[in-house]
Amino acid sequence: MPCCVCGAEFWDDNQNPLITDIEGDEYCILHAPIEYKDHEDLMNVVWERINCVFEKNLDKPQDEYETCSLDYTVFGEFSDFCGLKFPKTNFYKAIFSVVDFSGSEFCSDMGFEFAVFKSQACFIGAEVRDGGSLDYSYCVFQDEAIFQSAVFDGYVSFFRTTFEKNAEFTYSKQNMTPLSPTITFREAMFIEASLFLSVDYKSITCFDRTHFCAESDFTKSKFGGVSFRNCIFEEQAVFDRVDLRRTQLIGAPVEKIRFIACVWPIYKNKRIVFDSGVSFRGRGYFRIENIGPIGLQPKGPPPEQLADLFRRLKKVAQQEQDQTLASDFHYGEKEMRRMKALELSSGDGGKLSEFGVYALLSIYKLCSGYGEAPFRALFALVFFIFLPFAVVCGFDFAIPVAGPFPNWIHFIPLVKLPSLEKVSNISILLMITSQVVISLQAALAGFALRNRFRR
Ligand SMILES: [Zn+2]
Repeated sequence: MPCCVCGAEFWDDNQNPLITDIEGDEYCILHAPIEYKDHEDLMNVVWERINCVFEKNLDKPQDEYETCSLDYTVFGEFSDFCGLKFPKTNFYKAIFSVVDFSGSEFCSDMGFEFAVFKSQACFIGAEVRDGGSLDYSYCVFQDEAIFQSAVFDGYVSFFRTTFEKNAEFTYSKQNMTPLSPTITFREAMFIEASLFLSVDYKSITCFDRTHFCAESDFTKSKFGGVSFRNCIFEEQAVFDRVDLRRTQLIGAPVEKIRFIACVWPIYKNKRIVFDSGVSFRGRGYFRIENIGPIGLQPKGPPPEQLADLFRRLKKVAQQEQDQTLASDFHYGEKEMRRMKALELSSGDGGKLSEFGVYALLSIYKLCSGYGEAPFRALFALVFFIFLPFAVVCGFDFAIPVAGPFPNWIHFIPLVKLPSLEKVSNISILLMITSQVVISLQAALAGFALRNRFRR
């Protein structure tokens, strides 16, 4: 009779039972409840298994690696795996007490799916590399999880992992390029504080649907690409000096994020969001100037979604009294609205009214940078004032206007129009148009100036 756990799980490596519990169930040393076995004996068996597989795998290519199975193993007291180099190992549904993997090396696939860490789990400086990966899917960390200074150079999954106490990822990093494996915290749950200070993940990181129940701190963190789609911050997340140049904020709860002196993507001296330039090769809206070329990206989000994101970010910036940032996001919002109007008005069944919106917004942009560019507005004002002068005096098709003043003065607001006998109806119409345009532009310039100096 094999051990009851080994037998039930159809291990190809059935262990002989050594231990019988009070109910008469027989267990091997790996699977016996803690109170029936000596911790040191257990660790000796575990280390031996690990070393044995490690040596077997030494001369094999990666796809023929044997797996060291420690599934369902029940660890008691303090398990010390510090500095150990692991072969391909599975801790599926294992139960750990205090455990220390500090400085250990994972050069192959490591599976911790459904494992339970009942006490502190320490992975300080642990390293995934050489094609290794780490899978903590559905794990539960019932005490602190410490991944400080860990190196994740491979696929790392915390899918649906639950962190019941503090989770510490400070100074952890991933050195690989953006196209290499990802780090995912998808649908993970942080019940207490989560600390991601100064993390530097060069690949893509996913916090989609992650639930942060308490304080979360991303101070000075850097990502080669990261998304927070539909994640939940129950408390204000701190994004202090975070590098946001490759951060997707679409679908992120930006109202729950406190942005402090972050590095934003830049387009023509304006701060924008990565999502609006994500697929700039032919399809994006803004070419982000302060990042290198991005690889092939999926099509960016539609303009109305981006307009909504810019509008919400503008509101956040206004609440923080950061008026210059609000101004940049206002530009983004209006630009996305203009793109949407262009989209709706073009092609078959395009709406004429939307083309009107597009034309109006284009003029608004040209004349005053959406009310945010006073110098452009003043320049346009001067242009409108001197345009009739150029037309009247500079060209053959000059409009015939008589009177004691230079002809063009009648085109300027507040100047009385000449009497109808002296000039044609067309001239009067042009004069009135010019007077209205100049008045409007003067108002726009005033508005843009006020916006600038309010900041
Ligand atoms: Zn067993």
